[in-house]
Amino acid sequence: SAKHEGRAGAAIFDASMRAAVTDRLRLESDLRAALERDELRVAYQPIVALDDDAIVGAEALARWTHPTLGPIAPDVFIALAEETGLIHSLGERVLTTACRDAKRWVEEIPGFHVSVNLSPRQLTAADFMLRLERALARSDFPHARLLLEVTETTVLTHDARTRANLQAIGEAGIGLALDDFGTGHSSLAQLRSVNFDVIKLDRGFIVADRTPTGDAILAAVASIGTATGARVLAEGIETAEHRERVLRLGCGFGQGWNFGRPSAAADFEAVLCAHLGDSASSSNPSATAR
Ligand code: C2E
Ligand code: MG
Ligand code: MG
Ligand code: MG
Repeated sequence: SAKHEGRAGAAIFDASMRAAVTDRLRLESDLRAALERDELRVAYQPIVALDDDAIVGAEALARWTHPTLGPIAPDVFIALAEETGLIHSLGERVLTTACRDAKRWVEEIPGFHVSVNLSPRQLTAADFMLRLERALARSDFPHARLLLEVTETTVLTHDARTRANLQAIGEAGIGLALDDFGTGHSSLAQLRSVNFDVIKLDRGFIVADRTPTGDAILAAVASIGTATGARVLAEGIETAEHRERVLRLGCGFGQGWNFGRPSAAADFEAVLCAHLGDSASSSNPSATAR
């Protein structure tokens, strides 16, 4: 313990601790300021149907460029927002922006969905549904075209408010996706406790070595997802080989660099327009109607 350390050791410990705390406090106040000034951005990544590569949706991903530090990884600032409680207003901002940006896309493309990530803490809030409905109402966004992505941590909780909010999401006609499936303390029981519309298989399954065992596990996980009635989506498809493999092993949908990186709304919209033009003039007229 600190009591038994020498004076110098304790001093060094104090100094580095103080520096870490100061950095964190600064980042926290910078994030708070960025939210107040509405400086966070949302990027969109295409989600495709693997049988014909039609774009059937987009995942909204938060982006923060710090004025002096540059782009901060979402894993870093989302965790910070969770710890500090800023996640409630950040989450509402992302939802509001995603509904506004995707409004045109869902009107133009039959069945198009926008996916928005939820942190576990957002669902513990008593006013979660109020914030969610407010975000949808701002652009009169159709509930059925929103998919909310939650992780295993959220689903495994015994928090009563989280359970009630998950149920309320379903009752409001909004879709639920299980994100990063296979990374947490997965149990098959959790797949029964909540009705998921989409199950997103974690990137880890896709980048793993292509062994017969790896293939068998991926095929088994995909078939479990399908058995629950969910659409099964493979995350992190970086190459044509990845695409071919997950399609062969039973995944109907995909997302990853092979199809497109996350990009600003205007750039995503340009991709979408080009894509629709292509499929309209192709021999497969149903491609636009996905
Ligand atoms: P996620 O929800 O699993 O999102 C997918 C992540 O994989 C994104 O990272 C995306 O850029 C990345 N990705 C997509 N395709 C590929 C690929 O082919 N290869 C590789 N290596 N990566 C790929 P990103 O944008 O850095 O976000 C990281 C995580 O931060 C997200 O993981 C999500 O958990 C969280 N996050 C991002 N935006 C939000 C948000 O608005 N709210 C909440 N609560 N969490 C968010
Ligand atoms: Mg996600
Ligand atoms: Mg994911
Ligand atoms: Mg994730």
